[in-house]
Amino acid sequence: TYVVTDNCIKCKYMDCVEVCPVDCFYEGENMLVIHPDECIDCGVCVPECPAEAIFPDTDPAATPAWLELNYEHASAW
Ligand code: SF4
Repeated sequence: TYVVTDNCIKCKYMDCVEVCPVDCFYEGENMLVIHPDECIDCGVCVPECPAEAIFPDTDPAATPAWLELNYEHASAW
């Protein structure tokens, strides 16, 4: 899965949402999150993110805490 991290906080761009083929972005408290069970790992959102906030879960930037936050907030919907 791909994971949204801190650079997304208070970002007002929604470019990622528009390109995601499976609509797996959801609104968190002050940022967007990706539902890990719905993301198909296409990677299309990464270059579209102006804040460079999205990383694959294999990247060190996608810490367990961010993975958990994405899962929790995306599952709340
Ligand atoms: Fe959506 Fe693809 Fe980004 Fe996953 S990697 S959130 S499926 S655009």
